Amino acid sequence: MSDAPSSVRGMNDLLPPESAKWQHLEAACRALFASFGYGEIRPPVVEHTELFARGVGEATDVVEKEMYTFRDRSDRSLTLRPELTAGCARAYIEHSIAMKEPVTRWWYQGPMFRYENVQVGRYRQFWQVGCEAYGVTEPTMDAEQIAMLVALFTGLGIPKLEARINNVGEGEDRVRYRAALVAYYEPHRATLCEDCQRRLDTNPLRLLDCKVRADHALAAAAPRVLDHLGDKAAVHFAGLCAALDAIGVPYQIDPRIVRGLDYYTGTVFEIVTTTDELKSQSTVCGGGRYDSMIASLGGPATPAFGFAFGVERAIRLMPAPAESFVPALALYIATIGAAARQRATALAHRLRLAGLVVEVEHREVGMKAQFRRADKLGARLTLALGEAELASNQAKLKHMAARTETPVALDDLLAAVTAGLQS
Ligand code: AMP
Repeated sequence: MSDAPSSVRGMNDLLPPESAKWQHLEAACRALFASFGYGEIRPPVVEHTELFARGVGEATDVVEKEMYTFRDRSDRSLTLRPELTAGCARAYIEHSIAMKEPVTRWWYQGPMFRYENVQVGRYRQFWQVGCEAYGVTEPTMDAEQIAMLVALFTGLGIPKLEARINNVGEGEDRVRYRAALVAYYEPHRATLCEDCQRRLDTNPLRLLDCKVRADHALAAAAPRVLDHLGDKAAVHFAGLCAALDAIGVPYQIDPRIVRGLDYYTGTVFEIVTTTDELKSQSTVCGGGRYDSMIASLGGPATPAFGFAFGVERAIRLMPAPAESFVPALALYIATIGAAARQRATALAHRLRLAGLVVEVEHREVGMKAQFRRADKLGARLTLALGEAELASNQAKLKHMAARTETPVALDDLLAAVTAGLQS
């Protein structure tokens, strides 16, 4: 092995043409979210470590084991954001947004960082797109967001997705349910995986979504959170189901969804794929209600509902190949000699400014090789420029699919290419 540099494990380069597929997804998000009233927020990548300990929860896997935390030159403890809900909440408080408007809808996209075991669909730098809506307690907001997300994925052509919803209760409900879970699991403590033995003391809800197979049977028969909801949560959950029914979004109720992050209160949901495209990482999106986070971080009591989905996972589930998102090459200009290259560059410039995708052959290579390249790049039209064409100010515009040639005056190239693309 040479000592050539390599990227950090679990942190990947995104290259063309794959990036064109990402851009398509991002554009779809931007357009759809805008019509639901979401504005884009771009918080910093680095936050004070304490924000995540307080916002995400000390006993979560993310905070306990997965954060990239370091000391800067002023000896402050900083962390590369592992998620953005806490960062958005910090911004919401810091900019006194609650004083300015009763309802706020933000969306974001960007890289997150978690020191996890790298596998298909699980990376150490991964991208999330997320939405946060502040200021509304009513379940129609939960339904609106879930429906928006389902519409997004459907529009991206992602097949075989399921929305699964649950309600983890809040306050008293949680205390009661926690006690029921501990009572259920305690007699089995010795048979649980090491992590779950610890979770039984620190965060018993997490026992339900343990990834160790041996613990699944126990989880399946565990007390259901939906049976422990108080009136308020039960009414909210019924309201969510009714609102989803009214919009026409199919969903399943899944009492085992608890989500890995501590901040959820009430509704939680996931969008999962029923294919094995993502191997064991079948969750594309997770989210829910977190009505206490803003207050617990020192802000005004503000209800909130949000989600984040993994862009790598969504991209993998989009069946269309990346190449299909690359803008088609309208014209390839083959050239022979320096003077032709110069003219071709100037002609191409004008066409590109008119919005056409144009490629000029800047290298001194044979005509045959140039046409092979035009073919490979999928050029719809080609134009060959050499000494004779420069002298006459005329050239032949070739329609690659039809195999026809039309003489064109170089000064009228834009009009000829526009017409050629329509034929
Ligand atoms: P979370 O913030 O843990 O609720 O995750 C929300 C979504 O982000 C998941 O459903 C995944 O699609 C994605 N995600 C979380 N962790 C990773 C990771 N390590 N690599 C890739 N995607 C991830």
